[in-house]
Amino acid sequence: MKVLITGGAGFIGSHLTEHLLARGDRVAVLDDLSTGAMANIEAFKSNTKFSYAIETIFNVPLLAEMVDNADAIFHLAAAVGVRLIIESPTRTIETNIGGTELVLKAAAKKLKPIFVASTSEVYGKSTKVPFKEDDDLVFGATTKSRWSYAASKAVDEFLALAYAKEKKLPVVIGRLFNTVGPRQTGRYGMVIPRFIEQGLAGGPISVYGDGEQTRCFGWVGDVVKGMADLLGCEKAEGGVFNLGATEEITINALAAKVAAKTGGKAKIEHVPYEKAYEEGFEDMKRRVPSIEKAAKFIGYKPTVGIDEILERVIETYRSQTTRPPKPRR
Ligand code: UDP
Repeated sequence: MKVLITGGAGFIGSHLTEHLLARGDRVAVLDDLSTGAMANIEAFKSNTKFSYAIETIFNVPLLAEMVDNADAIFHLAAAVGVRLIIESPTRTIETNIGGTELVLKAAAKKLKPIFVASTSEVYGKSTKVPFKEDDDLVFGATTKSRWSYAASKAVDEFLALAYAKEKKLPVVIGRLFNTVGPRQTGRYGMVIPRFIEQGLAGGPISVYGDGEQTRCFGWVGDVVKGMADLLGCEKAEGGVFNLGATEEITINALAAKVAAKTGGKAKIEHVPYEKAYEEGFEDMKRRVPSIEKAAKFIGYKPTVGIDEILERVIETYRSQTTRPPKPRR
């Protein structure tokens, strides 16, 4: 099969590329490197089944050509990361809504099956545990830019489902919960690479808020396999699926684990949200997926727990450099 991955040079996109190449697919990546990196796809360049274009999805003729050449599409190109969203809300909204519209339009012309990557952020500040795919979405005020990301991805979902309904486009939507693994950068806010870099640098490890908020961290290898399996599952067409892990951990406990696994010297500090992000920032207290639906349709099952995840990621940092990285604020 010939597959197009928009955003294929990003953290998740590059793992998906690896997974699809390993199962024998041909993979073409379209990425403007806005949050992705050449280094993420370096290893695939010698593979004759791999090709790439460093361009934006807003280049419509190129997008059309790449869509035409593919049998299926994974649309991952998006502005992601809480820090990036707070700092660049215009870019977030325009990339996520305008970009997805173009990709769906191109896919619809030839009815190419498409996986649209969405996010657990769409559940917003709902306090229900666990989140199920048909639950209500609960957003905060429009003056709080975090919610622009949730709302932009919710619009992407509406649009993808509208194409499925009206144009019979074979669409499947995956709501990715906190997904982690090697090659993830902390630059856009993601907690695990930030904590590990801080831990390896001797600390401090900065926990935002009181640290009692929880997350469930899914191993990227499990998540990308889930994405590939969903697009290959006819019954999943037109559906929305949570993908992630269900092992819940507080950010305080996560910080303590990272401190212990990175040498045990790093102190843990608490930083108020308004200092870390912006005045009035709202975080979600708990975020746990129900993965029953994905389990039922594709036999989805997370295979790597948080301790193993942290050890694997720390190992990739240690093998990259002998000098500790500079601490982040
Ligand atoms: N967080 C933190 N320190 C950091 C980055 C994030 O304590 O340096 C917290 C953040 O406030 C959130 C959790 O870790 O409660 C997960 O953050 P991330 O940005 O990775 O993902 P989110 O679940 O917020 O999308």
